[in-house]
Amino acid sequence: MVLTKEKRPGGAVDDVRRPKTPSDSKTDAAAKSVASPPPSPGGMFLLTPVEEEVFCRERFSEEQLEIERMVREFAVDRIAPHRDELETHNGELTRRVMREVGELGLTGIDIPERYGGMGLDKTTSALVVEALTLSGASSWIVTFSGHTGIGTLPLVFFGNEEQKKKYLPKLATVESLSAYSLSEAEAGSDALNLGATAHLSDDGSSWLLNGNKIYVTNGGWADLFTIFAKIDGKKMSAFLVERGTEGLTIGPEEHKLGIKGSSTVSLFLENAKVPVENLLGEPGDGGSIALNILNIGRFKLGAADLGGCKWVTDLATQYALERKQFGQPIAFFEANRKKLAEMVVWTYALDSAIYRTVGLIDRRIAALDPDAPDYNRKAMAALEEYAIEASIAKVLGSESMFRVTDHGIQIYGGNGFSEEYPMAAAFRNTRIDRIFEGTNEINRMVIYGYFLKKALMEELPLRDAAKTWLEGGASDVPEGFLGWELGALDTARRLSVKLFHEAISHHGQDLRNAQVVGEDLADLAIGYFGASSAINRIRQLGDKAAQDTGYQSLARLVVADFLEEVWRIYYRLRPVLLSDGYGLSLAADLDREIERLHLPFDPVADIHHLTNDLFHHQHYRFG
Ligand SMILES: Cc1cc2nc3c(=O)[nH]c(=O)nc-3n(C[C@H](O)[C@H](O)[C@H](O)COP(=O)(O)OP(=O)(O)OC[C@H]3O[C@@H](n4cnc5c(N)ncnc54)[C@H](O)[C@@H]3O)c2cc1C
Repeated sequence: MVLTKEKRPGGAVDDVRRPKTPSDSKTDAAAKSVASPPPSPGGMFLLTPVEEEVFCRERFSEEQLEIERMVREFAVDRIAPHRDELETHNGELTRRVMREVGELGLTGIDIPERYGGMGLDKTTSALVVEALTLSGASSWIVTFSGHTGIGTLPLVFFGNEEQKKKYLPKLATVESLSAYSLSEAEAGSDALNLGATAHLSDDGSSWLLNGNKIYVTNGGWADLFTIFAKIDGKKMSAFLVERGTEGLTIGPEEHKLGIKGSSTVSLFLENAKVPVENLLGEPGDGGSIALNILNIGRFKLGAADLGGCKWVTDLATQYALERKQFGQPIAFFEANRKKLAEMVVWTYALDSAIYRTVGLIDRRIAALDPDAPDYNRKAMAALEEYAIEASIAKVLGSESMFRVTDHGIQIYGGNGFSEEYPMAAAFRNTRIDRIFEGTNEINRMVIYGYFLKKALMEELPLRDAAKTWLEGGASDVPEGFLGWELGALDTARRLSVKLFHEAISHHGQDLRNAQVVGEDLADLAIGYFGASSAINRIRQLGDKAAQDTGYQSLARLVVADFLEEVWRIYYRLRPVLLSDGYGLSLAADLDREIERLHLPFDPVADIHHLTNDLFHHQHYRFG
């Protein structure tokens, strides 16, 4: 059943859809502050044992589960049938589907209730985009995400009362479509290096914007743009610019490798006349607006990729069971079993990492007073606190989805390469995920850059943790279910901390320029966050997982997959760490630790168990 606004008043439906009011949030926050300790700081996951409680989809509230069920149904019944047409750059259809989704309230999840939105938490925001992605309509998802994310959120967090009242209700229902325009030819990854300028008009009534913008998602169809320019060439600022503004010209559509159903254009600003009241925030706030909004965009992109991983895994499983070669379904060949098992393992780790991240952010935000004048500033600070985790969600999401679709194409064989089948578009469409919302290189720099900053500022006790590693010796292997997994993860974690500490001690601030080492360290953090989130989630399931052979194999393979990464990185970094510059004299200790990370089980048997389980259910069944 699809829930509509008309069904809201009274009854069970209303109970499910009723958005939280500020007083609800206060009550929730008060209850939570009594019931649970504050969430650990960003990055702390690398310094704490695996046993820490994590948020995961099994902790969704009844409301969240109901919304998820409703959105999944809508995605499959109402969006998926238009998937091919939505790939053809059909603006009218794209907008029509957006409006339908708007009528359900789904484009207003992040917009406060008093401006026509639902004002729900980030978990709901993430699960909605994940569920919509099960439609397989990835171009349309880019339009949806551009509008609800970077297009609308600058106004939600930085707009004043008049601006919010004027624009947000129409954005919530998609009567207006939004876009975000930061990038320029010379300002891509170096996003603050803008050439676009803004000058106050002689009569003081308008800002006059000049410059050229590129790669504006939704630009061809948008009614409202958030455009970044430097006031007098100095103070980077953000402006709300309406379509039809004098001096604003919208360029032709880009011819792209993928997401061909979405709109991407350039903008030309020639004394574009923007009313003086349409400055967002204060002069000079632009950098903070641009970068903070990206933190939200990043975990939501990871959530969209999660939905994509599930969709592709299900399609590939069903195809492999139907397609026969050499007299049997291709699913039963070990080469395909290995791929399908990896698809399940990567999807599970990503799922666990995404909801752990949004859970941390939600707990921080729930502790704030929504009526306080500095609420938005503090909410932004809460998001920045988890910048490491948000970047991990982005990198893990986009790279898992890329590998999953690559496997999907291979399992489909020649049909994977044909436009008659869904894999070709899925593969093309996911490639952009590693480029926008900050390239994955920039996001890896965010990850090791924040660890560096937090260690140097002593916000994270990295040095103490590395010292303990030396003194503590080998960690014990716990007994029973998940014993090996917990022990192996802890050894890998302590080894990673040690490598981080050595690199930071050696390079200091210059770690930002030692990018090969930095990226390897970021990959250790990404892999550990994914694997530890997954194992913790399974641990929290208790007997349900302990007595389920599917979960047992999944747990072993998740850790084995991460350990492959640890081994690869360790053997590359070892000679670097032992070089004269570093002078690290702990090779024997490190080697002893890495040798402890062997697999005391047969991973091929687990690949068989996990895929038998997958073939039995015929779809990804872990959430
Ligand atoms: C389809 C599409 C939609 C987009 N939508 C939007 C939008 O809605 N709004 C918007 O403002 N922008 C948008 N963008 C722009 C996007 O955010 C940028 O393309 C992206 O940030 C990369 O910038 P760039 O293309 O200039 O690449 P460059 O910055 O030139 O980077 C090229 C390569 O060098 C690497 N690199 C650059 N600097 C460093 C460094 N310091 N260290 C290590 N490696 C580095 C990058 O990782 C990349 O691999 C979109 C782009 C595309 C293609």
